Amino acid sequence: MKNKVNLITYVDRLADGGLKEFINLLNHELKGIFGGVHLLPFFYPIDGEDAGFDPIDHTKVDHRLGDWGDIYAISELVDITSDLIVNHISAQSNQFLDVLKNGQSSEYTSLFLTKETVFPNGLDSDQLKAIYRPRPGLPFSDKLMSDGTTTEFWTTFTSNQIDIDVYSEAGKTYLDSILNTFAQSGISLIRLDAAGYAVKKAGTSCFMIPETFEFIDHLTTKAHDLGMEVLVEIHSYYKEQIEIAKKVDYVYDFALPPLILHAIYNHTGQYLKKWLDISPRNAITVLDTHDGIGVIDIGPHSLDKSLSGLIPDEDINSLVEEMHTRTNNTSRLATGEAASNLDLYQVNTTYYDALGQDDRLYLLARAIQFFSPGIPQVYYQGFLAEPNDMDLLLNTGVGRDINRHYFTKTSVSEALDRPVVEELIQLIKYRNGRKAFNGTFHCNYAGEKLTLQWTLDKEHEILVVDFGQLSFNINSVIDQ
Ligand code: BGC
Repeated sequence: MKNKVNLITYVDRLADGGLKEFINLLNHELKGIFGGVHLLPFFYPIDGEDAGFDPIDHTKVDHRLGDWGDIYAISELVDITSDLIVNHISAQSNQFLDVLKNGQSSEYTSLFLTKETVFPNGLDSDQLKAIYRPRPGLPFSDKLMSDGTTTEFWTTFTSNQIDIDVYSEAGKTYLDSILNTFAQSGISLIRLDAAGYAVKKAGTSCFMIPETFEFIDHLTTKAHDLGMEVLVEIHSYYKEQIEIAKKVDYVYDFALPPLILHAIYNHTGQYLKKWLDISPRNAITVLDTHDGIGVIDIGPHSLDKSLSGLIPDEDINSLVEEMHTRTNNTSRLATGEAASNLDLYQVNTTYYDALGQDDRLYLLARAIQFFSPGIPQVYYQGFLAEPNDMDLLLNTGVGRDINRHYFTKTSVSEALDRPVVEELIQLIKYRNGRKAFNGTFHCNYAGEKLTLQWTLDKEHEILVVDFGQLSFNINSVIDQ
């Protein structure tokens, strides 16, 4: 992966059409801005219950977008990141329908996890309590088999996403077929979606257990053999994230988005500085993604509250409240139990709204992101500084849709002409163009001023953020 700013986007929501329109955008309006793109699930179908994260056929490009040839054409322009949804598959997939129809005699029986496969001797209440899930409730769904019996399948997310057994022969064949398809289509980086949940074992939390690392290791080796790298998507306690980072190619820096908000809201860079001193260097940095802003990433350990987080415990609630206040309470309608959310621990809003649609603060936040260790990624709605989409939220009732706007060709052009977007593009080009960002990082905090500095040979790139004034400046220095 090139150390250049990446765009993360749904194809149809940005390009008003499909992959060919997207290529056109990359060749014209977006030319020379991004070094890579993370194309959010483009598999069949893109409009299931979880916006593509519930594939019926993971090896097929949704025909409404285009085909693998288009994906390859994009790979000749920029690096591509693509999701490998390792944890589950749609309940409408041929494989699952076959299991419902043929029961134990289906060739796909072993592909799916049931309560019984993981707990052959029954599940007691302690074992059940130990299981970690993104929201309260049971991780199982009853499904009616053709012989009239019901089976409890493992469903970490919605009841339409059936968890797969990644260790079964059928599971391995399934994942291999996706890996091979990706490798032939020019994908450079695989994002292991919801990887922390991929392995289940009786008596454990079934989340990030040692076997999960073995699985990630094994899959990474296969990906490397095919010429691809791996990004692991896990929201967790910050110290765990640091440990995970040591074992994989890339992790997300999910602590950064809430920490920068906390720093701006409270006029202090002290917690940010503490994090930037220890944050994983092999990170993909984000402020926004297609999901919400995770707060558990800077909070105390979810299973052991005595392990404190990156900000004082008492600041967590006030941070969330301040986010709602700055969004004019629009995020409240999209968050938690308000709107069928998959992950209750995330606040759904655009980053732009979390900063009260203040252009100056928004650019300040982006500047910090671009100077933080890692490869920066910018979400399409944030790139175009588009506010919360309340119409879409009200139409669908899906919380995350507040931040999943549909653009048209015209609305993209209009957004690109806005001064805040023009300035953001300048910042992206600056970040892409300076070689010191491949050098060493140093960070200092004194008298409300946070200094982030990159140095390579005689070149230095320096960002100074004044948290008293909430202002920033950037300097490029070359030693004589
Ligand atoms: C993705 C979500 C998705 C979930 C289940 C996540 O980590 O980012 O958008 O709903 O995995 O696939």
